Amino acid sequence: MTQLRYFDNAATTPMGKEALEAYEATALDYIGNPSALHLEGRKAKQELQDCRENIARLLKVSPLNLTFTSGATESNSIVMNNLLWTQKPGEVILSNIEHPSISEYARLLKQVGWNVITINAPQGFIQPEDLKKALTKETRLVCCMLVNNVVGSIQNIAGLVETVREFQKQNGRKIHFHTDAVQALGKIPFSLSDLGVDSASFSAHKFNGPRGIGILYNTDSGLQALCRGGDQEDGLRPGTENLASIKAMTVALEQAFAFREEHFKKATAIQDMLQEELREFTQLSPRSNCSPYILALSVKPIPSEVFTRMLFDQGFCVSSGSACSNNVKKKGETVLSAMLVKPADSRSSIRLSFGYDTTLEDAKTLAETIRTLYREHS
Ligand code: PLP
Repeated sequence: MTQLRYFDNAATTPMGKEALEAYEATALDYIGNPSALHLEGRKAKQELQDCRENIARLLKVSPLNLTFTSGATESNSIVMNNLLWTQKPGEVILSNIEHPSISEYARLLKQVGWNVITINAPQGFIQPEDLKKALTKETRLVCCMLVNNVVGSIQNIAGLVETVREFQKQNGRKIHFHTDAVQALGKIPFSLSDLGVDSASFSAHKFNGPRGIGILYNTDSGLQALCRGGDQEDGLRPGTENLASIKAMTVALEQAFAFREEHFKKATAIQDMLQEELREFTQLSPRSNCSPYILALSVKPIPSEVFTRMLFDQGFCVSSGSACSNNVKKKGETVLSAMLVKPADSRSSIRLSFGYDTTLEDAKTLAETIRTLYREHS
């Protein structure tokens, strides 16, 4: 049997052993509903609060600003949906390289009368001048992701927030800045307070936690819930809390932070080696200000689907664009075209993404296989 080598960690990561153990122990030990007033309920509520405090400590924010959600799609939706409910539509600015959980809102918002301005990210980066030009007195929200999931570019969010705050000072009206930080947490060092954003989204399964659990960081007290129900999560996310997953996410994040530098060094070594070994291919990931965990390249003229299939047949799991994008025809290409990547390179793009357990040895085998397959088929 062919040995399976996993290079699709930007889509999802395998659950860590410690997180899995924490999941099982919590699911078995905490039988009460955190909203219940009896002993088991209070025990579960305490554990929930401890998890929130531990995560808040790692993120250096107040636990009051953290809401547990089912993942980044929901966290993004809570923020974006608030605009749909606004009585008086205004203007919203979205980067053109957002994940579909944000970009799909462009269409919905337009339908209810919002002026949606989208800005490109040449070579992967939003230009502050473009954001400055797009801001008007009607701007209510700006949304720009921290680390792009297709190529790995790291945006200067603090700089973009600064541009927005400067504008805000002159105009008086508050503008909400939201960032999707899914591909950053546990991988790239950043500080939410230094970024200065109003809200941010995270998903546990990108840092070896379980799928279906995530976080919304939010400092905007006016934000309304997406679902209606009980007053869990301060009313912002009603529904019985998924305590076992929350605990597993907390443990996964603690592990990710404890080994972050070590993991970062290893990912950088893998990235450097692959860039060198695959230098004959056009690299779509930027050379600087880029996550070491993602490398996108073009295998033109071979179409992405064909090349990824050839790699699957050799036991490698890679992606063409992001996993979510693969379900939506040409979505990954759209993100790449917003980065001004040539259409021929977009159509032949593959994404290699690394996790904490990826080895340099497996990455070397991947590089060799890519070169061999390319020689045989181009
Ligand atoms: N945002 C980005 C940048 C992502 O990469 C993903 C997942 O692929 C999401 C949002 C959505 O996360 P989830 O599927 O956990 O809701």
